[in-house]
Formats: sequence, structure tokens, C-alpha cells
Amino acid sequence: MTRIVAIGEAMVELAPAGGPDIYRAGFAGDTLNTAWYLRKLMSAADQIAYFTAVGRDAMSDRMLAFIDAAGLATDHIARRDDSSVGLYMISLTNGERSFTYWRGQSAARRMLDDAAALRTALQGADVAYLSGITLAILPDTDRARLLDVLRDFRTGGGKVVFDPNLRPRLWPDAKAMTDAVMQAAALTDIVLPSFEDEAGWFDDPTPEATATRYRDAGVDIVVVKNGPSQILVATPDRSFTVAPSPVADVRDTTAAGDSFNAGFLASYLNDGDLARACMAGAGIAAQVIQQSGALVEVQAVSGQQRG
Ligand code: ADP
Repeated sequence: MTRIVAIGEAMVELAPAGGPDIYRAGFAGDTLNTAWYLRKLMSAADQIAYFTAVGRDAMSDRMLAFIDAAGLATDHIARRDDSSVGLYMISLTNGERSFTYWRGQSAARRMLDDAAALRTALQGADVAYLSGITLAILPDTDRARLLDVLRDFRTGGGKVVFDPNLRPRLWPDAKAMTDAVMQAAALTDIVLPSFEDEAGWFDDPTPEATATRYRDAGVDIVVVKNGPSQILVATPDRSFTVAPSPVADVRDTTAAGDSFNAGFLASYLNDGDLARACMAGAGIAAQVIQQSGALVEVQAVSGQQRG
């Protein structure tokens, strides 16, 4: 049995639902998306938990119920009296999606108020999964606490898996973002960056440069995603590329990277084969981008499903 704890923020999503000013409410967020797909792909014996904080209002109740109904463990989700969950709305203008966020006061920003809660959640876990958004939403002192907990988790034999998911709008400036991401990388076993983001904010000329930067920071396994282009894998022993199968009909790339990460991890934790894990990740992402929305039905790609 494998136990994974995903750490981050889930938000209410309001998506256009067919008419002006008509929206459908759902729930999403990068780390929640990955946890949601992990739950679909891993065996029932494995446990996937989500660590965050929510409020005590009706919308927080609904979010908790959604996470629970997805089969994710909610035991370590804190409930706060002083805040609620974050919200974003998707606007469609001539077919182009744009996003407006209300998340500055969300309960999730306070999830590391009590570092002991995360220590408890990680007890007996095999993998802690987080993203650059998890880092971005925390106050500086709480981010430092998170890194302390992850350091101890690794000392105890746990693995840290990290998607830098660079979102400059969530940071005071680009340097704060890149510094925090590299600090987290120094505590990471597997990093899953997307080349387009990394090139933009770290000035990496090539995916190889991205891989080298993370390897030099101490990361064991680097998997550089690059949209439809080759995925680059770098380990202490070798580096190689894997080509994702072409997708002719790309409909909505929301959660491409998040779902890739789930497909990759489910497969890698099953058999330790990195090339197969990349194919599994790309196979799930390919299904996701052919449908609209972040959370869609997918079929496990061969070699991925456990027992
Ligand atoms: P992110 O969504 O985090 O920016 P990427 O765009 O790099 O991540 O995509 C993640 C993965 O999704 C890729 O490695 C690839 O497997 C798949 N993918 C994304 N865009 C395409 C595409 N146009 N065609 C085929 N696969 C794609």
C-alpha cells in the first residue's frame, strides 16, 4: 500500500454555462487536480490524502464533500472560523478563456499555521506532493515551516515530489518566486517542471538547461514537460527523452501538467520505470486535453494500474 499526501489549495471554480452571466460551480486547483487523477489511477488499497484548510461555511462544506466523494482522505483538512475557500471565475471572450481570482484571504493560506498538523498528516506517508502554488500562497514564515516539515519527512525516508508551476502573479516579484522554488527544489526527490514556464522565468535556453539547474540544486529525478514536444528525463545515471503521442484535436489544455503528474507518479510508484511513467503521464494528459474542464473521465494507460 502506498500513501500520498498532496498539499495545496482547492478553489471554487465558476465556469460559463451556456448563457451570459450563467455559471456552473465546481472545484479545482493544481494539487487537487493531481490528487484527483491519482485516486482514479491507483489501486483502492493505496491512500491519497489532501492537506489544506477550508472554512466552516456552506461552500467549504461542499468542497469537503466533493474531495471526500472523489475518494481522497480529508482527515487532515483543517477548518477555520475566520475565512472561507478561494474562488475563480472563467470568462470566455471570443472563445478565449481568461481567469479572475478571489483567493487572497482564503483559509488555505493559513494551512501551515499549525505545522504539527502537517507532520501528523505525513506520518507513515510515502510521498508528499506539492507545487509552486502551494509555496506561493503561504506567508514567508509558514513557507519556511513547510520546508522544515518536508526536510524531516525526507530524513524519515519519505519522498518529496514537486511541480514548480510558476505563477508570478501570486508572488511579490519574480525573484521571490524563483528563490522559493529553488529552495523547495533542494528538498525534492522528483521535480516535474514545464519548460515553457521555466524558460520564461529562469531564462533556461533549453530543457537540458532546466534539468541541469534542478539536478545541480540536488534533485534526484527531473522530468521536464514541454507541451507536445519531447519530455526530458534526467537522473544521476542518465538522461533521455520520451515523445508524447501527437494529439490532433486539442480542446482545452487546463490540467495537462497536473494530470501528467498523476499518470507519471501512479506508474512510477508501481514499477519504477521512468520511460513507462512518462508515457503513462502523456497518455493521461492526452485524454484530458481532448475534453473540456480540469477534471474529466480518463482510462488508465497500460502498465499504470496497480494490482
Ligand atoms: P502544463 O500544463 O503544466 O504547462 P505542458 O503544457 O508541458 O504542461 O503539458 C504537460 C503534458 O501534457 C506534456 O508533457 C504532454 O504529455 C501533454 N501535452 C500538452 N500539450 C499537448 C499537445 N498539444 N499535444 C500532445 N500532448 C500534449
